[in-house]
Amino acid sequence: MNAFSRRGACPALGAPMQTGDGLLVRLNPVAGGLSPKSLVGLVESALRHGNGIVEVTARGSLQIRGLTAESARLLAAEVDALGIAVRSGVPVETGPLAGIDPEEVVDPRPLAERIQTAIEEAGLTARLGPKVSVVIDGGGQLTMDAVTADVRLKAVRAEAGRQWSVSVAGDVRSARPLATVDVDAARDIAVAALRMVAEKGRGAHTRDLSDRQWTSLAGRHSFAPPSVLPDISPTGGEISSFAGGSLLAANSLVSTSAIGETGGASPISPLVGEMSGRTEGGAVERPRSPIGLLNLNNSHALGIALPFGSMPAQTLVDLAKQASELGATEIRLAPGRALLFLGLSQTACSPLQSSAALLGFVTSPSDPRTRIAACPGTSACASGRIATRAIAEKIAAESADLLDPSLTLHISGCAKGCAHPGAAALTLVGDENGAGLVVDGTAKALPAGYRPGYDAARGVAAIAAALQNARHPGETAAACLARLGAAGIAELYRRN
Ligand code: SF4
Repeated sequence: MNAFSRRGACPALGAPMQTGDGLLVRLNPVAGGLSPKSLVGLVESALRHGNGIVEVTARGSLQIRGLTAESARLLAAEVDALGIAVRSGVPVETGPLAGIDPEEVVDPRPLAERIQTAIEEAGLTARLGPKVSVVIDGGGQLTMDAVTADVRLKAVRAEAGRQWSVSVAGDVRSARPLATVDVDAARDIAVAALRMVAEKGRGAHTRDLSDRQWTSLAGRHSFAPPSVLPDISPTGGEISSFAGGSLLAANSLVSTSAIGETGGASPISPLVGEMSGRTEGGAVERPRSPIGLLNLNNSHALGIALPFGSMPAQTLVDLAKQASELGATEIRLAPGRALLFLGLSQTACSPLQSSAALLGFVTSPSDPRTRIAACPGTSACASGRIATRAIAEKIAAESADLLDPSLTLHISGCAKGCAHPGAAALTLVGDENGAGLVVDGTAKALPAGYRPGYDAARGVAAIAAALQNARHPGETAAACLARLGAAGIAELYRRN
């Protein structure tokens, strides 16, 4: 067992991270997916050794909390005994349907392997910080657009054929585009960028490179001008319900910081989304939600999400067993806190969806719970001052009208704001005074009003009721809140 990781480092299976709820580990199967039997074994192990809750992060990693040094060691040994190989080293991530999506532009896995090999051969793994990551997105039904990375390569249909659009430091909306090049050049630029980062030290990211270095990366290969043919994928430009988004994007109640930004000087948090319940990077063209039925070649994938990214381990075991009985052959983790069930016949999808809904999972992309980012809060995290997820469940049940896709609600156990570092239209944050309301700001901002934590949902219900009365036909929740103004919203929350 390695020494425990420092807070903020990547808490891999061999390097658990200390949290307010014991040690935490995060893992991703190398193979992409797990058989239902393996997932059951893994989650039962988590149940034996962790706090009884299993999480899937917005980035699509499995997370287990509440471990001790001894139980983390036992968990690692049991995962190994199950034959589950987990990712280590620099994450080079592909989409959850890589290689099996009939709509993808290119299968990204061979390029991902080449880059992984090049990173190893160049001796970069030990020289790069634990949060440096690469995304290789082959396009298709489930993109990686909302996932932030130091280097991102996205397959595009260009005039010169299938090419790779290379960008650095962000998600698809915020990353800086460098070039559109062929596969060899894409690999070379990616590795060159990582070398430059490594030279700056283990705390560095591509956002720390100079303009000169960025220009040199873009110019190191002759490349096609970035005149990319229109994306004819059916997902192009589709509005998603899982990628965050906010009042801010669509309205003038607004600060200029985007969802997923850290709210500080840094333009990105490179592993944004690893906290379960956390929103992702706030892409303007929001990616398709992984929740629901996806067509593959002669088969289907059924996406089911964990509410706020967490579920009791036993409930997940029950779902995986039912999936197995219905014919699922593989279960993949997906960005958006979801699981994709593969190998099901179309007729088997419906009963699995129904069972999942009964168990409390999210089975519809329009479920209001997908509009709320909520960290574990009390009692899972020692820093938590409010029961974030209980409040979130109540708001989703009672104030669903408020939670249309124009708006993001963040519920944070404390001012750290782990689940959503950027500004949100409405943030409930716990502190010594109860549940504070921040309008159009981050969890670190000064709340405009307070209610006792147990009563926070009632304050939000008052805002929802006012919104219902004041809303013009066709007006979004975000636009209506902007009209009501921050002071008026805070007053509604405080008074009612
Ligand atoms: S925001 Fe605070 S309460 Fe929530 S997980 Fe982070 S440290 Fe814990």
